[in-house]
Amino acid sequence: MSLETLTPSPLSSSATAVAPVFNPAYNPSDFDAAVMTTYGRFPLALVRGEGCRVWDTQGKEYLDFVAGIATCTLGHAHPALVEIVTQQIQTLHHVSNLYYIPVQGELAQWIIDHSCADRVFFCNSGAEANEGAIKLARKYAHTVLGIAAPVIITAQASFHGRTLATVTATGQPKYQKDFDPLMPGFAYVPYNDFAALETTIQEIDRNERRVAAIMLEALQGEGGVRPGDLDYFLRLRKLCDEKKILLILDEVQVGVGRTGKFWGYEHLGIEPDIFTSAKGLAGGIPIGAMMCKKAYDVFQPGDHASTFGGNPFACAAGLTVGKTIVAQKLLQNVQERGEQLRSKLRAIVQKYPQIFDEVRGWGLINGLQIKPEIALTSVDVVKGAIEQGLLLVPAGPKVIRFVPPLIVSAAEIDLAVAALERAVSKLI
Ligand SMILES: *Cc1c(COP(=O)(O)O)cnc(C)c1O
Repeated sequence: MSLETLTPSPLSSSATAVAPVFNPAYNPSDFDAAVMTTYGRFPLALVRGEGCRVWDTQGKEYLDFVAGIATCTLGHAHPALVEIVTQQIQTLHHVSNLYYIPVQGELAQWIIDHSCADRVFFCNSGAEANEGAIKLARKYAHTVLGIAAPVIITAQASFHGRTLATVTATGQPKYQKDFDPLMPGFAYVPYNDFAALETTIQEIDRNERRVAAIMLEALQGEGGVRPGDLDYFLRLRKLCDEKKILLILDEVQVGVGRTGKFWGYEHLGIEPDIFTSAKGLAGGIPIGAMMCKKAYDVFQPGDHASTFGGNPFACAAGLTVGKTIVAQKLLQNVQERGEQLRSKLRAIVQKYPQIFDEVRGWGLINGLQIKPEIALTSVDVVKGAIEQGLLLVPAGPKVIRFVPPLIVSAAEIDLAVAALERAVSKLI
């Protein structure tokens, strides 16, 4: 029988399609009985979004300055994203990496054209991208540098993911507690402290192990919105070159325009050897990517893989996000809206010096630091803001993080800061 005359399977009908409407009788305790309680959830359920706004089951509207935690780059229901994912799912949504996937190649080329990378590997999340980076660095250390026991140095207060290797890389004991034994081959240094780094490298050398890579965030996101120090990163790059240490940057939260430049490292006057991306890369469709310079691409067929990695659906979304950032000049919007947001938040710090210390950030990733010595926490402020119709996300117990979609308008920034101020005035 020829393939042309084959009739479609009768099982491919749409008769069983489930309409994606939410259950208005939704009940949080039923939810918690069914879904593992790994998240401390705020008591609201979101069911619809448009631009920088979302609506809950009660029909209440919120300004979304969380954006899926720095993920919904183009906001909600952006027409370009809606159009491309609709087209792609009607055409071909998933095929195996047993075959060539043209749009995967196109997205890789787009990343290469807009970064220092020469090669890309696709996966589905930030942790998975960092796992890829760790495996690549270890393979390079073993096969090219002849290091038998390679060590990767990461920073205290960092965040690299929740898999066993990336939670080990994450320099925060609270994420590691009860999951030991952790992965061997990691050491930790304080962030932005060059002298401490030199001392740690010397100690590792003395113990007959060798540092294969240093993995850092260009700006620490979860750890409290702490930007990398220019001078530190310049000295670090020089040190890595001299000692043949790979420099890996985790750009999962700050990459793809979030900081007003395509990549966080562009703020630091350096280029990494390996870097990773995920959160904002496909605007909220799951994707991860690990990039490297040509010299470090030591992976061979069979070394690393991911079933869903780089499928046509996610890659079409990623390509559309990238092209939209360029076409709509979103980097400029991020820079301008970021300035506006920081100056308005600084005014809040001045008005409430008994509560807040400072504002930190680049572009549209910003943190408002609560005074360490007072009882108020970031969760208190976030809860107060929810009541005022504004979604924010903590970055640790004392920092409130602002990561709106990159399309946010000047009027929306004004509204958000006004809502925050109403919340703060009620908390004191
Ligand atoms: C969120 C995040 C990760 C983990 O990403 P997942 O997609 O949740 O696995 C890793 N690194 C950084 C810097 C992040 O912000």
